[in-house]
Amino acid sequence: MIRVNEHYLKLQASYLFSDIARRVAAFQKAHPGKEIIKLGIGDVTRPLPPACVEAFHRAVDEMAAAESFRGYGPEQGYPFLREKIAREDFQRRGAPIEADEIFVSDGSKCDVANIQEIFAADVTVAIPDPVYPVYLDTNVMAGRTGAFADGRYAGVVYLDSTRENGYVPGLPGRDVDLIYLCFPNNPTGAVISRERLQAWVDYARERRALILYDAAYETFIRDERLPHSIFEIEGAREVAIEFRSFSKTAGFTGTRCAYTVVPKGCTAWTAAGEPHSVHALWLRRHTTKFNGVSYPVQRAAEAVYSPEGRAQCRERIDGYLRNAALIRREMTDLGYECIGGDHSPYLWVDTRMDSWAFFDLLLEKANVVCTPGVGFGRCGAGYVRISAFNDFEKVALAMERIRAALRGRA
Ligand code: PLP
Repeated sequence: MIRVNEHYLKLQASYLFSDIARRVAAFQKAHPGKEIIKLGIGDVTRPLPPACVEAFHRAVDEMAAAESFRGYGPEQGYPFLREKIAREDFQRRGAPIEADEIFVSDGSKCDVANIQEIFAADVTVAIPDPVYPVYLDTNVMAGRTGAFADGRYAGVVYLDSTRENGYVPGLPGRDVDLIYLCFPNNPTGAVISRERLQAWVDYARERRALILYDAAYETFIRDERLPHSIFEIEGAREVAIEFRSFSKTAGFTGTRCAYTVVPKGCTAWTAAGEPHSVHALWLRRHTTKFNGVSYPVQRAAEAVYSPEGRAQCRERIDGYLRNAALIRREMTDLGYECIGGDHSPYLWVDTRMDSWAFFDLLLEKANVVCTPGVGFGRCGAGYVRISAFNDFEKVALAMERIRAALRGRA
C-alpha cells in the first residue's frame, strides 16, 4: 500500500490568491463596464532589458550551429556567470565571496524551498510573520512542525514583524537552529540596518545556528548605508546562506534564473557533534538533483552586468520605485500609516480595519486590487500589501480613484 507523506496533510490550503481572483471575478461580472487596476501582483510588468534579449538571441544562435552547440553544462552554472556574480554583486561591495560559492539555479523559490532538506528533521526553525509562504510550507512538508491551530503551526518559532519592532523581528527568546530572514521584505517592504543584521549574525555564531537570507529584492535598495548582502556583515560567512534572483532585478520571472551563495565557511553538525561543510552538502544535493540552467538563459543573465544591461535594469527598477513613492505619498496623505516602498516594490499599509474589508472597499469604491495582509500570516491582520509593479499611468489613475474613495475615512 502506497502511503502519503502525512505532513502534507497539515498544509493549509492557500486561499489568498484564489480568494482574490474569485472576488475580482464576481465584481467584474456584476460591473462589466468597470476597468480594474491590479496593484496586488508580485510579478514584474516591464519586458526583459534589450541587452539581455540580445545576449539571449546570440546564445540561441550558438546552440543552432554544430561548432558552438552546447549540451549539459555544469550543474552549478557556467563559470562566465558565476565569476561575474562573485565579482560584481559581492567583491565590489567588500563581501568576500568566490565564484565557487555561487550556485546558479532556475529560481529562488526552489532554492529557498529545497535548502532545508540538508538539515536534520528536528532542527528548530524560526520564520517571520508575515512571510513569503514558501519558507513555512516547505518545513511543514518536511515534518518540522506540528498541527495548525489559531493561524500557526506548532513547533515553529514565529518572528513577529510589527509596528513595535519597526517590522524587523528581534532575536528570539529561545534557541533556534535555522533562521529565515528576508530584506527588503516581502510582503512588508521593510529593510534591515547593518547593526540589526549584525545582531542576527552574532546570535547565529553564538548558537551555531544558520541564517537563510532571502535578498530577492536587493536591487531596490537605494540607501548605501543599508546592506545589500548579509556577507557585508562581519562573521556572516560562517553562518549564512543568501538567495538572489534575476526575477525582480532584470524581469526574469518568466525566463527563470537565480543563484544561491553558500560560503565554504558554513558548518552544520551531526548529533554526535561532528562538523560538516554546508557547501559540500549543498553541492552534493545540487549536482544530484539539478542539471543546470539553460545556456541561453545564463548568457541573458550575464548581460545584466554589462554597462547597457545595468542601465536598463536600473531604469526599470527606478520606474517601479517611482510608482511606489507615489503610492506611499498618496496613502500617507490620506492618513494611512505605511512602510516599505522606498527600497522595495511593496508597501505595507495599516488599514485600521479588517484586511479583507479594506480589500473589498478598494475593489468596490476604487476598482483597485490589493493583497490582504492577513494572507501572509497572523501579524498581517489589519494590513494590506500594495504592489508597485504596474505602469506609472495605471498607478497614478489607481491612486486618483483611491483618493476619491477614501478621502476623510482614515
Ligand atoms: N523570495 C521572495 C521573497 C519572493 O518574493 C519571490 C518571488 O516573488 C521569490 C523568492 C522567488 O523568486 P524566483 O522568481 O527567483 O523563484
